[in-house]
Amino acid sequence: MLSQEIDKHKKRVLEVLLTYTFIAGIVFSIINFNRDLFAIAGIELTAGFISLWILYRVKRTIVHEKLVRLTVIYLTLFFSIMLFVFTAKGVSNSVFVWVYTIPLISYLLLGNRLGFVFTFILYSISAVIFFKHPNFQSFMSAKIAFGNIGFSALVFWGLSHIYEKANSEAKALLREMAIFDKLTGLYNRSMLNRHFLNSADKAQKGNKNIALIILDLDFFKEINDKFGHMAGDEVLIKFSKMLKQSLPTEASAFRLGGEEFAIISLADKIDDSIKLAEVVRKQSEQEVYSFNNQSVSVTVSLGIALLSPKNLELSQLLKTADRRLYLAKNQGRNKVIFED
Ligand code: GH3
Ligand code: MG
Ligand code: MG
Repeated sequence: MLSQEIDKHKKRVLEVLLTYTFIAGIVFSIINFNRDLFAIAGIELTAGFISLWILYRVKRTIVHEKLVRLTVIYLTLFFSIMLFVFTAKGVSNSVFVWVYTIPLISYLLLGNRLGFVFTFILYSISAVIFFKHPNFQSFMSAKIAFGNIGFSALVFWGLSHIYEKANSEAKALLREMAIFDKLTGLYNRSMLNRHFLNSADKAQKGNKNIALIILDLDFFKEINDKFGHMAGDEVLIKFSKMLKQSLPTEASAFRLGGEEFAIISLADKIDDSIKLAEVVRKQSEQEVYSFNNQSVSVTVSLGIALLSPKNLELSQLLKTADRRLYLAKNQGRNKVIFED
């Protein structure tokens, strides 16, 4: 199985925020240094350089979980400084407007679940500060002020939640459409190359063999012609289910289009992949479909190409497997061919 892909959009937003934080950290530390506010200047300088370090790590990572971890570190730093500023001496009481960035940034960078956790915790701490801290006493004594801030903060929270939910659902749907074939639920053709590279990597590390098997249902057009397109679809769905169930964990199945499929098989021995093809062929033969009270079976022809120093590219493997599939068709169908 391939691990979850990095959300490039979230990564980009994080990179921009980190760059801003770094620049702001340096600029404000210089200003405050000149105002003899050494402690604050020191905190800002440190925060700036921590952001730069996180930015460096973010740029290099391609692992989803690592990106989430770096985001959590950054937001904890960023929001801690914000809360610290709320309580700093002499700060303007208009500083509360920054509280609205909490749900926006948290949901945008971390998604719904962690966004909720961050917003809940930070809103709670901010509410306590606004109520209790002398910085906001005069301001908050008017109940209407707290009401306004409180309600508008909740509106920001609600909108961020709804936006991020719709956004993540749309992305999940797009991802699913990009990965899976709609009719059969198998991987689609565009995933073949990604899985191939992934398997080639595993094969090299684990000293295993890769085989590409191409399958094509025999006389499939007859099913459509005799029983209709819906019956044809039913055969494709049932066949795909059977195909998926026959695969060992280290093999994956793809629908290349129409009634043509592929398997990438990662196995200890070359023989294992040939045996797998034979299992699929036999099971197809035995699978019975019934339409209009008539029982039919659909056989399959298979061509196998093995990864070898002469056959390293997926395009070469596809060509070889296709040629052997063609041979299987010519030799009477319902056959597995692995050499020519
Ligand atoms: P062969 O043994 O030589 O492969 O013969 P065949 O009839 O299987 O091959 P042919 O290429 O002549 O026909 C394939 C048919 O598959 C034609 C097309 O209408 C049908 N087909 C392609 N995609 C779908 C689909 O999604 N659903 C259905 N029901 N039929 C499809
Ligand atoms: Mg066919
Ligand atoms: Mg075909």
